[in-house]
Amino acid sequence: MKALYYDGCLKYTEEYPVPTIGAGESLIKIIISAICNTDKEILKGYRPDFKGILGHEFVGQVVESKEDCLIGKRVVGEINENCGTCLYCRTCRPTHCENRKVVGISGKDGSFAEYLVMRNSLLHQVPDEISPEIAIFTEPLAAALEIMDQVHIKPSINVAIIGDGRLAFMIAQVIHLIGADLTIIGRHEDKLDLFKSFGKVTKETSDAFEVVIDASGSPSGLLTAQRIVRKRGTIIIKSTYAEKVKIDMSDFVVNEVTIKGSRCGPFKPALELLKKGLIEFPPIDLYQLKDYEKAFSSKAFKAGFIF
Ligand SMILES: [Zn+2]
Ligand SMILES: [Zn+2]
Repeated sequence: MKALYYDGCLKYTEEYPVPTIGAGESLIKIIISAICNTDKEILKGYRPDFKGILGHEFVGQVVESKEDCLIGKRVVGEINENCGTCLYCRTCRPTHCENRKVVGISGKDGSFAEYLVMRNSLLHQVPDEISPEIAIFTEPLAAALEIMDQVHIKPSINVAIIGDGRLAFMIAQVIHLIGADLTIIGRHEDKLDLFKSFGKVTKETSDAFEVVIDASGSPSGLLTAQRIVRKRGTIIIKSTYAEKVKIDMSDFVVNEVTIKGSRCGPFKPALELLKKGLIEFPPIDLYQLKDYEKAFSSKAFKAGFIF
């Protein structure tokens, strides 16, 4: 099958073997797979140990399964495959499983290929109302919703989002839905324009905020967050990157700032919001897999592959 393989650099092949399913698994024919910032960070060295097919945001159709009722269904999939027996699995934190494999990121082939094998328990059926071009946003929207699962964001406070990319766009809409006073801080005028119906947009601010969400995808985001968070405020970090940050930690101690890391989130409510049409997106820019270089350098809001 066609696949984009990573082993320190990215290679396109048409000779990759189609994976086979085991107990409790399904074979999924990929319909659309999207590129996310994490994929770009992996190419820059964020996951030096990873070898395999990249990609973790996908919509596909089950073509073979040990569970008959899944066959033919359109699905999206959660990306953390947990062991079920370690401390974190036993204490209801399966996305932090010590032995976890992460689709297209750690220990498991991803979705930049014609076929993907996934564990059935990680699959979510896509309602008929949602097109593949919209369902592809389930995983990043779930990651945005994770914030609401972790932190009580009161509608009466002010919130800042640092970043004007895709994840920031989804977080902004989720925060907008609760009615909080929202400011989006970004670098790109054209990207910030897309955010105008969700909150105030700015390139710089002298205001201070109760909650600051860093979705900039760069180390400077945390430094900005530190500067604009109020005393006893909360910083939520969504960015992952290959670089290290140098930061004055005593500042957080003195000002009693809470820092919260935030990663993958719940798929079910994400699909629910998409089904109700409560979240909007600019169209995704789709390429054939062999044109991966064009796809990775696309300036579109979201780029991906169509199979
Ligand atoms: Zn992603
Ligand atoms: Zn585990």
